[in-house]
Amino acid sequence: MTTPTSSRPGRPDRERIDFGLAAVAALTPPGELLAEAGTLGIEFEPGDLGQLGRFLAMLLAANRQANLTSITEPAEAWRKHILDSLTLLQVLAEIPEGGRVIDVGTGGGLPGIPLAIVLPTLRFTLLEATGKKVEFLKQAAAALGLANVEIVQGRAEGLGQDRGEKTGTGRKGGHREQYDAVVARAVGAINVLAELTVPLAKPSGVVALIKGQKAAEELEAAKEALHQLKAVHEATIETPTGRIVVLSKGAATPKMYPRRDGEPNRAPIGSKVK
Ligand code: SAH
Repeated sequence: MTTPTSSRPGRPDRERIDFGLAAVAALTPPGELLAEAGTLGIEFEPGDLGQLGRFLAMLLAANRQANLTSITEPAEAWRKHILDSLTLLQVLAEIPEGGRVIDVGTGGGLPGIPLAIVLPTLRFTLLEATGKKVEFLKQAAAALGLANVEIVQGRAEGLGQDRGEKTGTGRKGGHREQYDAVVARAVGAINVLAELTVPLAKPSGVVALIKGQKAAEELEAAKEALHQLKAVHEATIETPTGRIVVLSKGAATPKMYPRRDGEPNRAPIGSKVK
């Protein structure tokens, strides 16, 4: 279920911590959360809320060891983590059964794990660079019994250039242009994040970024980046917890993107940094 594709050299297994997640008791959702989810049109299947509550409890319990979130108050965490993640459902609703979604820079599993819990027919790849967080994700996914989740330790720059291996009938494996949807939250401003996410989406795929107050400002600053990446701003959707910026691919991503590790952040496309 979990395949670490790359790990940072020179960092031995000191992250191998047992988070003891099996013993963690589920949190119950506050009434307001259910009401707000209802206004979003979210209908939970039996068992979903229990799984979401277990995941949230695991995240807060492991936080002491792995620094996964600054939000530690349960009611606030239900809203800012679970509900905020689930606002993406309206964008993912159209993906057919068996479709693939990648969460870039998932951290402690947001928004990827709540989405994987409520969308069991889609296949999720959770991408995270940090070993300790990856270790938590593996243990949480196993404790929750999530069969539709694959956890990958690596960087978006590397995966975005990974075309897989040549076989007699085409290419196998790889991540570039393989996903029906690419999602991300709190990984960077749009001019940086577009380079990390757009290359992973299929030509027919969609990129959905959870953003806050600065969405419009960031989009303005990302004009050149979107142009270079041949990405199109489709919509900005207001949600109870923020905004979703939806991008599509006007054409295949030029080969040079994403650039090497760290470069998107160091010198965002269209910025004057050299
Ligand atoms: N999405 C989570 C975590 C946000 S913190 C949430 O909303 O809570 C940003 C995370 O992205 C960090 O865990 C960091 O390690 C990871 N990250 C940053 N740049 C990355 C990259 N280029 N590739 C993969 N992961 C990255």
